[in-house]
Amino acid sequence: MALLTNAALLSRQNSRNALTCIRTVECMRRRSCRYLQHDARARVPPLGFAFDIDGVLVRGEDVIPEARRALAMLEGDNRFNMKIPYILLTNGGGMSEELRCEKLSQKLGTEIKPSQFLQAHTIFKAMAHKYADTPVLVIGGKNDVLRKVAEGYGFKQAYTTLDVLAWNETVWPFHDLSDEERLSTKAVDFSQTRISAVFVFHDPRNWALDIQVMCDAIQSAGIIGGPYTHGKIQGSGEKPVEVVFANPDLIWRSEFDRPRLGQGGFREAFGAVYKALTGTEYPYVQYGKPTKETYDFAKSVLAARVEELYGFRQLPSSIYMVGDNPESDIAGANKANWDSVLVHTGVYEPAEGPPRHTPTFEAENVEEAVKMAIERAAVSQ
Ligand SMILES: [Mg+2]
Repeated sequence: MALLTNAALLSRQNSRNALTCIRTVECMRRRSCRYLQHDARARVPPLGFAFDIDGVLVRGEDVIPEARRALAMLEGDNRFNMKIPYILLTNGGGMSEELRCEKLSQKLGTEIKPSQFLQAHTIFKAMAHKYADTPVLVIGGKNDVLRKVAEGYGFKQAYTTLDVLAWNETVWPFHDLSDEERLSTKAVDFSQTRISAVFVFHDPRNWALDIQVMCDAIQSAGIIGGPYTHGKIQGSGEKPVEVVFANPDLIWRSEFDRPRLGQGGFREAFGAVYKALTGTEYPYVQYGKPTKETYDFAKSVLAARVEELYGFRQLPSSIYMVGDNPESDIAGANKANWDSVLVHTGVYEPAEGPPRHTPTFEAENVEEAVKMAIERAAVSQ
């Protein structure tokens, strides 16, 4: 120390002062950041919602009258004077999220953004990176509507069963392609194209063709018309074909008097045919309400919506699922530890006895559901 000159001492002292100064500024910055974070947390409403659509907000083509008032409440006309975050969570599908939101926004008189909309196959977006550059089959929907949706998700080699039929009409000789169908096809040599996965996006329009092509792909390790592998992987490029369904609903309600078979019915039919052919059951992945995966995905979408509204990514302390179907809406919400509200404007008929899955509470309609949930949240604050 004695060897240090005055100039060196002064320089060292200045460095220390500068360091102290930097530390003080950094500390203040962190503190103010913490205050800001605390403020942001305080500004996030204590509850959020996930709404089923059919039987809750709309019935067929008609809007349920209370739906508009319920959504207006969430836009700020409520006792918190805040926008309460919500998402729509449906087992429906069959078109792009953007198009469905456009139609719903017009019907409901409020803007529904794709960022707050989750239909059965939206979760496939999360799998697109795994299959971005490998051929997959897209099942369901009209013509190539869902191929385009899949491409929008990031699947670059998405094919339809109509493509397969256009490649070789003897694959299923009982269906002649219409002009419109033929126009929607892509020219592909499926004898040289190894299908790695089958994604059932929506209700198939031709169960027979689709079951045939799925069984073909699975039995020949992805090469339609190739030798059967009998479950044994032979070459380096061969892997079992992954089969993924978006919606487990066995039945659904159309305008017809009795329920119609849904995608769950198709899954059962495919499974039964495959078992009759091979003597084994083929494993598959199932998404859609009431699966845990779909509710986990919905939570991340709701947290992102909070961030969009309040600049801070977090889940509200209570999440309410409002639905008309005890088997999907209420069962899934209960398993996910959400609160659940069963409304009386859809498939559930109170006259037929208590629901098989008990909701947190029941409400006549969606407006009553939202009001009651807000009151509960206000009391528990
Ligand atoms: Mg419903």
